[in-house]
Amino acid sequence: GQCVAVCPVGALHERDYTWDVVEALANKKKKVIVQVAPAVRVALGEEFGLEPGTDVTGKIVSALRMMGFDYVFDTNFAADLTIMEEATELKKRVEGYLAKDPDVKLPILTSCCPAWVKFIEHNYPDMLDIPSSAKSPQQMFSVVAKEIWAKDMGVDRNDLVVVSVMPCLAKKYEASREEFSKNGNPDTDISISTRELAELIKQKGFNFTNLPDSEFDAPYGTSSGAADIFGRTGGVIEAATRTAYEWITGNELEKVDFEQLRGLEGIRIAEVPELQIEGSAFRIGIAHGLGAARELLDKIKSGEEVVHAIEIMACKGGCIGGGGQPYHHGNFEIIKKRFEGIQAIDNGKELRKSHENPYIKQLYEKHLGEPMSHKAHELLHTKYFARKKN
Ligand code: SF4
Repeated sequence: GQCVAVCPVGALHERDYTWDVVEALANKKKKVIVQVAPAVRVALGEEFGLEPGTDVTGKIVSALRMMGFDYVFDTNFAADLTIMEEATELKKRVEGYLAKDPDVKLPILTSCCPAWVKFIEHNYPDMLDIPSSAKSPQQMFSVVAKEIWAKDMGVDRNDLVVVSVMPCLAKKYEASREEFSKNGNPDTDISISTRELAELIKQKGFNFTNLPDSEFDAPYGTSSGAADIFGRTGGVIEAATRTAYEWITGNELEKVDFEQLRGLEGIRIAEVPELQIEGSAFRIGIAHGLGAARELLDKIKSGEEVVHAIEIMACKGGCIGGGGQPYHHGNFEIIKKRFEGIQAIDNGKELRKSHENPYIKQLYEKHLGEPMSHKAHELLHTKYFARKKN
């Protein structure tokens, strides 16, 4: 598959997990819930003859419910949660940097791409203090499901199976990392790709294109447009900027579209003049594809390029171009259409800032306190490990 070329860990995890899902759904003793990543919804339709970029969110929810999942939730909810933690960390790091705290490092690097995280652990062990410690949306969702939702529902975490549908093969590896488990029980039990979901739908014989639209379940089914754009290059940092801008300046952000952060060039450097750091504009570096990522990181390491924040995605186009998506056979037009599809979803939403998601506010009020609180730290943050060069 395409992933062998673009994602350094995916190749090890090409095993088909559809059977594991079928087995879990057949086990009457288990509650089985599912989360669906943003990039999946603008690509899955291609497996059923629809145009790339077609938003099939509602049909995915119907299909998953008909398959027998007890609850159908949205990874997007956890993307909003990721922004709460990451934007808080960004704000704290900016404040520490301005106060000349020697322990505080800028730039901050987004950390939701496990292939990229693994790459930096192997190749830049001296730079492990720059990634945000925030877990990825997949892992935030799963830990909240097992440690908060399951308790509220009176379900033992060992009787809860969390399935994720991801555009990604590296997410299978991420799910298996030991730090994302408790007493041997993983937070994410089974991670399947977009193609594997298509396979399951075909096995069931559903007429996908004729399925009605359904809504995700509460409380983890509501999300902002900022969460949708996690699926495309530049989106995570745009989502973080929408929130960090308001938190750092105290002003309301009226125009949420940071056009300068969008585009499909391998490396983009953009400034956000509304956000000033020591008299100059906040500078952001964005790279997608591992070659471009290495190039950008080397420039930052050598001091040739100075930025305050970095977003790196291992796949070209970001997760819309992931190794678990319907094959695009190197046709970049397909990636572009998925990009536009994601952007249309964001544009069409009333809610476009993660911190305004009412269910996110509720989660903090009821369970987490503040972003980066002790509880938030325990559940939503992680550590990185230097690994042998490979
Ligand atoms: Fe997975 Fe997205 Fe990273 Fe690709 S860019 S490896 S799809 S997380």
